[in-house]
Amino acid sequence: MSASQPLPRKPTCARCRKHPVIAEYRPFCSKRCADADLGSWLNGAYAISGAPAEDADDTPDRPAQTHGDDG
Ligand SMILES: [Zn+2]
Repeated sequence: MSASQPLPRKPTCARCRKHPVIAEYRPFCSKRCADADLGSWLNGAYAISGAPAEDADDTPDRPAQTHGDDG
């Protein structure tokens, strides 16, 4: 009888922590989680670096740029 050795735990998604990590989207399980995490990170960065902007008066409404690189 051999002692039950701990199974090598598969790395799980850094965001949802439910699904196994996909190498392509490491350390996430999918593009969805990767994008979601990146999005939240950007939002956080904006919130942090962005000073309390009260003068949102002359801010031009620029359209979202699409690079068409999303595959
Ligand atoms: Zn995930």
